[in-house]
Amino acid sequence: MEQIRWVDNLTGLYNREKYSSLLKDIETKKIRQIGIVDMDINGLRNINATKGYQSGDRILIRIAALIKSVFGVNSFRVGSDEFVSLALNMDKADFEAKVTALKAKFSAETDFRVSVGSLWSDNCRDIYKKVSQANAVMEATKSFGYKNLTADYNHKAESAHRLLAEIAEGRFKVHLQPKINLQTGLIEGAEALVRKIDEQGVIISPDNFIPDYEENGLINYIDIFVLKTVCRMLKDWRDRGGRVFKVSVNVSRVTLIAEDTIKNGVAICKKYGIDPCLIDVEITESFGLLEKELLVDLIKRMHEAGFSISMDDFGTSFSNLELLSQVHFDTVKFDKSLTDSIVDNPKTQILFKAAVSMCREFGDTLTLAEGIENEEQLKVLQKLGCQLGQGYYFARPLPEDEFWERYIKK
Ligand code: C2E
Ligand code: MG
Ligand code: MG
Repeated sequence: MEQIRWVDNLTGLYNREKYSSLLKDIETKKIRQIGIVDMDINGLRNINATKGYQSGDRILIRIAALIKSVFGVNSFRVGSDEFVSLALNMDKADFEAKVTALKAKFSAETDFRVSVGSLWSDNCRDIYKKVSQANAVMEATKSFGYKNLTADYNHKAESAHRLLAEIAEGRFKVHLQPKINLQTGLIEGAEALVRKIDEQGVIISPDNFIPDYEENGLINYIDIFVLKTVCRMLKDWRDRGGRVFKVSVNVSRVTLIAEDTIKNGVAICKKYGIDPCLIDVEITESFGLLEKELLVDLIKRMHEAGFSISMDDFGTSFSNLELLSQVHFDTVKFDKSLTDSIVDNPKTQILFKAAVSMCREFGDTLTLAEGIENEEQLKVLQKLGCQLGQGYYFARPLPEDEFWERYIKK
């Protein structure tokens, strides 16, 4: 009876029902550490359609055997082409070594591709959130790995195709806005901001297209394109004898959790001969929604790779003070909404002053005010000790050649 109830007929792994029941009482099981591996076969439907169900079945059986050989009995077939393994009470290094081993086994196969997302934590609280996080990592990896999937003709692949074609046609442009030292008035860096050019040549602002690409999981193509462009620009400026300083890129949540983002970022820098310390990565407060350990680990790894990190739009939504206490940010960028009320609202001034002093005490976290539009705002911000600023008062985001003329050319 147990066999019928808990086991998947085809692969011999446990089924979804067993998985659900294990998750349900995981908190009562005295588990200290948990590793979750979420796996999805790319294009199984297509394989079934073109090669027949028997081929599909053979692949499922093969994958199940590979998973079981690495992660043992706590492996589950949770959907037609989805698998999950749980590693209980396994330390992080062991877990990661196993994930790497499994991925290597998958890559050695020629008949199929499997997208893998994994997550490790030192506790089992909020288990459903952790599980969905591992799934989100897997999804992000899937969109990134698309280039290898010639057989995958689903909707997402089509959109990815279209987006890659648009990028190749030069439909996306990177503009640059200077970051100004508020005490000296000199430029200290820049932020790269993407724009899309529509068929009529009209410039579309990112707020009108980024949310769509975030939703369909393709934003990482844009973020990577922007990073490449920035590296290319930095190399260009250096080659032409111009000034070189730090440029920041905005990185979306989807991009950040995609498995190979840091590795890809480092590889891109290397390709253009740009030291990662010239690249600043702006992440927004909404990252507070991510699993804390995952975010702390990602930021640590980015720092190790040489990138610096800014917290963008600080002071909007739900200010993540906890995040500030967990990881080191090189810069905290105060949202334009705070700058907007800085002149007239004494409470905003008090907030700002406290935040500036908090960042100072963190060590060397810089503070930057976004959206400075007039001199009054600048004066107040200077008085409050804010170090950096961005805004139309200094310059709008500029196309590359204009930025070169105004700020880079010596
Ligand atoms: P953000 O990172 O907070 O960028 C600052 C936004 O404020 C930019 O809008 C900039 O043009 C605008 N801004 C700067 N100074 C002023 C000012 O004085 N007054 C006013 N009214 N606005 C000012 P933009 O370029 O439209 O970008 C909007 C958002 O889109 C960005 O907010 C960022 O979150 C996102 N974004 C832009 N480029 C990328 C990208 O390459 N990847 C990702 N994932 N997101 C991006
Ligand atoms: Mg930004
Ligand atoms: Mg911002």
